[in-house]
Amino acid sequence: MKLNGTSSSTPLNGSNGNHNNGVHTNGHSLNGHYSATADRDELVDELGDAHGASSIDTPMRPDAFDLDDDLKIDLIEEHFREIMNILGLDLTDDSLKGSPRRVAKMYVKEIFRGLNPANKPTPTLFDNKFRYNEMLVEKDIIVQTYCEHHFVPIIGKAHVAYISSGKVIGLSKLNRIVEYFSKRPQVQERLTVQIADELKKVLETEDVAVMIDAKHLCVSTRGVHDVNSSTITAAYGGKFDEEATKQEFLRYVAQPSVTI
Ligand SMILES: [Zn+2]
Repeated sequence: MKLNGTSSSTPLNGSNGNHNNGVHTNGHSLNGHYSATADRDELVDELGDAHGASSIDTPMRPDAFDLDDDLKIDLIEEHFREIMNILGLDLTDDSLKGSPRRVAKMYVKEIFRGLNPANKPTPTLFDNKFRYNEMLVEKDIIVQTYCEHHFVPIIGKAHVAYISSGKVIGLSKLNRIVEYFSKRPQVQERLTVQIADELKKVLETEDVAVMIDAKHLCVSTRGVHDVNSSTITAAYGGKFDEEATKQEFLRYVAQPSVTI
């Protein structure tokens, strides 16, 4: 299947034509298309650092799932092989020849599987029979997501909390919700809000809190090469906007984790 009737060599050009934004990748011609100026590179770098410009929803095209997973893997394999080719790597080398398919499978089946709503966890809710009306905090949930500007990992921890409105959720579902939205190209701010919004919807309450503390490999392994800094983002809803409740949450998060 092809998207938008484009040729099979460039099947994913999208419908609005804005994706390339001056970076010409049409066809495979190398002549003159890579004359990027220093100014434009600088602008691209700055856009890569500007996290506020995008929407809360992951920007997806309406035809995002017209291709099935197997076809996506085949196409990504083909295109990633081309990237390696352009870099001058010898694809006949035993160690490299399987990489295009490995990367393609990893993108579709593992690290970006959260793009597909079909993979969204279905929450199991229970009645709050214990009448536990205090906050529940699930802390130190591992976050492994990918910077959408550089496609390298963002690794850290999420702490989520809610106050029951009459329903409670299976604890592991909190981890699953964090995991689902992490398996996408992301910016940390959007990931934080997407998790909070999903918790509000599922738990039928505004009383949720999400905090993420994470290291961005695009900051530590390139660019400024700062291996020490981490980024904290938070979303507070309902009662968590009240100072006492927020402080209680922050106290729990700051407590050393239990070891067993
Ligand atoms: Zn980045």
